[in-house]
Amino acid sequence: MSLQNKVALITGAGSGIGRAAALRLAKEGVKIGLVDLKEEKLKQVKQDIESQGGEAMIIDTDVSDPKRVEQSVKEIYEKWNRIDFVFANAGINGTVAPIEDLSPEEWDQTLSTNLKSTFLTVKYSIPHLKVNGGSVVITSSINGNRTFKGFGMSAYSSSKAAQVAFGKMAALELARYHIRVNIICPGAIETNIGQNTFPEKENLEKIKIPIEYPEGGQPLEHKAGEPEQVADLVHFLFSDASNHITGTKIFIDGAESLL
Ligand code: NAD
Repeated sequence: MSLQNKVALITGAGSGIGRAAALRLAKEGVKIGLVDLKEEKLKQVKQDIESQGGEAMIIDTDVSDPKRVEQSVKEIYEKWNRIDFVFANAGINGTVAPIEDLSPEEWDQTLSTNLKSTFLTVKYSIPHLKVNGGSVVITSSINGNRTFKGFGMSAYSSSKAAQVAFGKMAALELARYHIRVNIICPGAIETNIGQNTFPEKENLEKIKIPIEYPEGGQPLEHKAGEPEQVADLVHFLFSDASNHITGTKIFIDGAESLL
């Protein structure tokens, strides 16, 4: 079935995986509500979508703020009168620090941006997804399923593990409305997440052990993955080709997690 004229809400759409998914879905005729903190980046993505003949609107918002997420969902619904797909994808690495040096505020920031935002985005979208049935994809990480190689990522890994648990509970709870919920777990993907959210240098110095990516890249292609490869998976999970798949977590990591 065609995705033409369906409507998607994508968080973290200004960069990396969110941007690639927005461009991929827009090519299929999906109208995209682009949500991110960074308005300048959103404007560029909107322009890129329009230059390939697609339709998008931008909403600069902090996805950890309940009122602003509720308002974002409302604006998208008011523009297109439906929401079919939700990609809860915004995230940060947050402060990288040993547990004894990580402040409660730093912990909260990572958990709010990665986990609370997922809850809020799904929660406020449910009334609209219920109308025709829908599909939700949540971006977790292979590091929500195993320990990050290198110290300092306790908050990040905790948030990513909890996203998997939340996604499964949501899949069970929302199945009665024919809303599917799946969780994707990328390995290292070439995006700006390092520059966008990496910690102050002093924290890295405290750790002494930098975050390691596998030497020689991921076993499958001997490099990190591309955002467009993740976008293809998101497209599959929004399409009818996956209409019996829900509550599943899917690794997309070129075998990185098997090392
Ligand atoms: P990215 O930094 O390129 O994109 C993330 C986007 O989220 C940015 O545009 C940023 O502005 C936005 N964002 C951050 N905080 C926000 C907030 N409070 N409100 C609204 N928007 C906010 O990074 P990416 O790699 O594309 O990350 C996307 C998701 O993929 C994240 O959840 C990340 O944890 C996950 N992930 C990434 C990798 C990787 O190696 N890149 C691996 C596994 C999982």
